[in-house]
Amino acid sequence: MKKILCIVLAITLLFLLCSCTLEELLGIPSPKDYNQIGDAKLIVHFIDVGQGDSTLLESKGEFVLIDAGERDYGDTVAEYAEKRGCNELKYMIATHPDSDHVGGLKTVIETIDTENFITCETDKSTSTWLNVLHAVDEYDVNYIDAEPGKTYSFGEATFTVLAPLGDSYNNYNNYSVVVKAQCGDISFLLTGDAEKESEEQMLRSGEDLSADVLKCGHHGSSTSTSDAFLSAVDPAFAVISCGKNNDYGHPHRETVSKLRERGVAYYRTDLLGTVVAATDGKEISVLSQGGRQIEAETFSRNDSENADQAAISYVGNRSSHVFHRYECSGVKTMKDENMIFFDTREKAIEKGFSPCSLCNP
Ligand SMILES: [Zn+2]
Ligand SMILES: [Zn+2]
Repeated sequence: MKKILCIVLAITLLFLLCSCTLEELLGIPSPKDYNQIGDAKLIVHFIDVGQGDSTLLESKGEFVLIDAGERDYGDTVAEYAEKRGCNELKYMIATHPDSDHVGGLKTVIETIDTENFITCETDKSTSTWLNVLHAVDEYDVNYIDAEPGKTYSFGEATFTVLAPLGDSYNNYNNYSVVVKAQCGDISFLLTGDAEKESEEQMLRSGEDLSADVLKCGHHGSSTSTSDAFLSAVDPAFAVISCGKNNDYGHPHRETVSKLRERGVAYYRTDLLGTVVAATDGKEISVLSQGGRQIEAETFSRNDSENADQAAISYVGNRSSHVFHRYECSGVKTMKDENMIFFDTREKAIEKGFSPCSLCNP
């Protein structure tokens, strides 16, 4: 059985504003150099693109980009990738043609040399999507139709296409190209906006869906991450990519509850900003770049008690010294710079925070 050590780190605003190093502040390695964390062979960046998705994978200097958020985020994603030393994308994957996934891809193609473009053909003909396809043409990017079962390699990692398995869907989300990235013993299941229909097809396919990290489908919507699917994936932790106070109520309470019940630690980009996971093929380290402090945690996958503790369940307000449950309305209105995260209520109380009278944490 695999054992995973998961360390959650963060940069505080204080760190950004003052000259002291993160080591001095928290006694942990600087997230500026993810490669410092053991021998990182695969680093997965869940880039904060508000209400949307963008995931950058890097292994030994080779890069794969999955989606790039809405059009306005194209520059953000391109700049982020360039800062990571990416001047060439070996693969770009457009999971499905919705604008919150592919809007920024045109800018990325115009900015960074892109070798291959993988997507699933649909009849979608919005100008946003057609612009991306034109850019693929114009910049001579090799177009690949997503084919389940195909495996591609980059650096010391691979990814395998698992879905879509059907030919036609009523909902564009189900056309999402789902990939499983693998490095040594560690795997990431990246599901785009795939919903229950696609999840069921993946389950029926008999493909090994188990993964250490799951990016929850469709921004944590209740239409994705079905019980059976979550059981099959059995992740150590999950990432939910969504925008703060988004119009859809993502992530939905049902999804968050399911993760909690199973003791799956989960990280939300709306609360944490960009979330980064680095692995040497045996262990995973998770870092948040969002300028918010998370208590450093260590857990192993098969230790359910520890896994429970690794889930971020409580949010404290540094200004009022009141702490809330994750979903409390008090968290939604809290200023970013006042947020501090706790995985247990004991830790919040230990730090001098008192429970909110509204959500009774
Ligand atoms: Zn979608
Ligand atoms: Zn979406």
